[in-house]
Amino acid sequence: MKRVYLDNAATTKLIPEVMNEMIPYMTEVYGNPSSPHYFGQQSAMGLDKARRRVADAINADPSEIIFMSGGSEADNTAIRGIAERYAKKGRHIITTAVEHHAVLHTCQMLEKQGFEVTYLPVDEYGMVTVDQVREAMRDDTVLVTVMFANNEVGTIMPIPEIGALCHERKVFFHTDAVQAIGHLPIDVKAMNIDMLSMSAHKFHGPKGVGALYLRKGIVLPPLIYGGAQERNRRAGTENVPGIVGMGKAIELACTDLDKKMASMSALRDKLITELPKRIPEIKLNGHPTKRLPNNVNFSIKYIEGESILLMLDLNGIAASSGSACTSGSLDPSHVLLAMGLTHEVAHGSVRMTLCDETTEEDVDYVLEVLPKVAERLRKMSPLYHE
Ligand SMILES: *Cc1c(COP(=O)(O)O)cnc(C)c1O
Repeated sequence: MKRVYLDNAATTKLIPEVMNEMIPYMTEVYGNPSSPHYFGQQSAMGLDKARRRVADAINADPSEIIFMSGGSEADNTAIRGIAERYAKKGRHIITTAVEHHAVLHTCQMLEKQGFEVTYLPVDEYGMVTVDQVREAMRDDTVLVTVMFANNEVGTIMPIPEIGALCHERKVFFHTDAVQAIGHLPIDVKAMNIDMLSMSAHKFHGPKGVGALYLRKGIVLPPLIYGGAQERNRRAGTENVPGIVGMGKAIELACTDLDKKMASMSALRDKLITELPKRIPEIKLNGHPTKRLPNNVNFSIKYIEGESILLMLDLNGIAASSGSACTSGSLDPSHVLLAMGLTHEVAHGSVRMTLCDETTEEDVDYVLEVLPKVAERLRKMSPLYHE
């Protein structure tokens, strides 16, 4: 059976060039990078190279990159770290209603510890404005955390503008860029970003490894205490093969990025323009133009997203109803609800996320299968007949 993987926002395929670079670090290069002997230093050199590659991808200095287990840990380290270290400065945090749970649940935990959190509402496209952030700012605001691009609907937030505002007001600015990095150009200096979270498995690297960019001069307590790894900012023997893979993956993702963005956007736009011609009463979720090059998200009215996914899977197409973390629960996506969708319409949503290996043939297959699936499910849907 033909298989088409369109769930790249949940995770991506580890590409062979990345794996090849990792293999020596799982076999002969096994020294502990903290050990001063030859074996250890071979591993340490692997870490150095990866750190430089990650830093180069976002115009940072290698000393500003802290490797850790992934995007969730980076979000936790940044937000909890600022809260703990700089609470004297203020106990007010600004974020948005559409963040990933790694940010939202962290903020909710801090509320229980006496912090005040403003969850900015979004418009119908899932967007916040810099004016909203400005109006929410108070004298005791210590941190603004706004995602670079949304993982469910692909909306790209006005990050450089928010960064400039935070810089002017001397408020720390963190962005969860897990979905953006490798898909959009990022320059932490030009964009005034103080902290940025990333995760290797979202850009064809291995799972269980990520990094936090932490601007020079900001000191955060570690989330994990122990040894002096990562300059005392994250204890525990480094995941050397994973980090090496992350370095290679980010370098590859950022090579010819403009070209990849253009070709992925073209396939995305084919789905976005063709599906509504073939399926009546469907609604595009997310911003029509300020959108990740690989994200398509539609609500197909009168039917359940879960049934659509099941039928797509039977036809070899892997899609998602929202974030992988909340699928399996029957609660509709907090992102779609924040955008003003009714529970019913939110329940009928399908997210398809492409990668640079997605072909026109794959897209055409979706254009053939999804309309048939929608028609069949609607025939069985009592809602449609009313
Ligand atoms: C996947 C994802 C995360 C979590 O990253 P992990 O490496 O899986 O912990 C955080 N934020 C966003 C926006 C994501 O898409």
